[in-house]
Amino acid sequence: MSRKVYADNAATTAVSKEVLESMLPFYQEVYGNPSSLYALGREARTALEEARATVAKCLGANPNEIYFTSCGTESDNWAIKGAAHAMKKKGKDHIITTAFEHHAVLHTCGALEREGFSVTYLPVHENGIVRPEELEAAITENTGLVTVMYANNEIGTIQPIPEIGAICKRHGILFHTDAVQAVGNVAIDVKEQNIDMLSLSGHKLHAPKGVGALYLRAGVPVSNFMDGGAQERNRRGGTENLAQIVGLATAMERACSTIAERTERLSAMRDKLIQEVLKLERTRLNGDRTHRLPGNASFCFQGVEGESLLLMLDLKGISASSGSACTSGSLDPSHVLLAIGLPHEVAHGSLRISLGDFNTMEDIDYIIETLPPIIERLRNMSPLWDAIESGKVSYDAYF
Ligand code: PLP
Repeated sequence: MSRKVYADNAATTAVSKEVLESMLPFYQEVYGNPSSLYALGREARTALEEARATVAKCLGANPNEIYFTSCGTESDNWAIKGAAHAMKKKGKDHIITTAFEHHAVLHTCGALEREGFSVTYLPVHENGIVRPEELEAAITENTGLVTVMYANNEIGTIQPIPEIGAICKRHGILFHTDAVQAVGNVAIDVKEQNIDMLSLSGHKLHAPKGVGALYLRAGVPVSNFMDGGAQERNRRGGTENLAQIVGLATAMERACSTIAERTERLSAMRDKLIQEVLKLERTRLNGDRTHRLPGNASFCFQGVEGESLLLMLDLKGISASSGSACTSGSLDPSHVLLAIGLPHEVAHGSLRISLGDFNTMEDIDYIIETLPPIIERLRNMSPLWDAIESGKVSYDAYF
């Protein structure tokens, strides 16, 4: 039986023991409704508010600026649609985003375009990084919202968020960032970085799936997304998912308090992987070499078909991805790889390795040992590789 290596932590992560243990009392002991007035409810309320304070501290926010949601997608929808609908009342209808956002943002912007908003999709260039000066040049008198992801989920590039925050502040424009991949991996201070709204999700940081949060700066004009009871200070109805919220807070506390040592550990593994994989001929690293998440390595291999590569790695016990979890399964190449200027033929040969707290250097060694013969085998079977080898086509400009 071959080794098992889970290398798809950008898709989701395993719940850590510490997180699970912190959650368990809230299923059968402290199961009261946080809105109930008796002791069991009050105990639940206390845990809820403690969790809120923990999440806030990790982001440099105030507890009353944190709202718990069901996932990153909900947080993105709430922030973007809520801000758009509120700004329309002031006569603003223009949104700026980037071409390589997660679909939670892109499809939300698409829905707003169908409602009559206009959206500018900024290019991200070959290094996978937005240029703040291009963002500033796209601002018009009708611009009311900028939404730029903190770190890209496929190629791991970290965006110049403090610079973008400063531009938005100078122009009096609301700034939202989808920080689902960044929280716990990059030091974030929403006040210092002029972030008005920030989305995060538990399952990317060893908390469970189905819990997220939205930071809304106090006083930010954003309409409610869910109508219902008075939960979340009348902003998001629905009985709080307390056990998972506690799990999210435990995970964030751990991630934020150990960010320096985790960054060192993860980036040492990532760098070894990148160094070794790039020794394979006609192989490229996608996205900037240094401004990238500590656990992300995204490659393209000429003449290789990404889906076949994933299946062959799976047979060897390695779980990885060739794009985002939501788009793999479709045969379209990743919109992120197309946005950084890669042709379809190159984008199809992609592999994303994303590392988390449970990966070890032995995992990296196993990937390094397993990958080359698979690439060779796939190239030997590939008509595209034949065409490349015989010089009929060339993608060398991208490698
Ligand atoms: N935004 C980014 C950048 C992501 O990577 C993801 C998940 O992959 C999401 C949003 C959606 O988060 P969730 O799965 O919690 O809805």
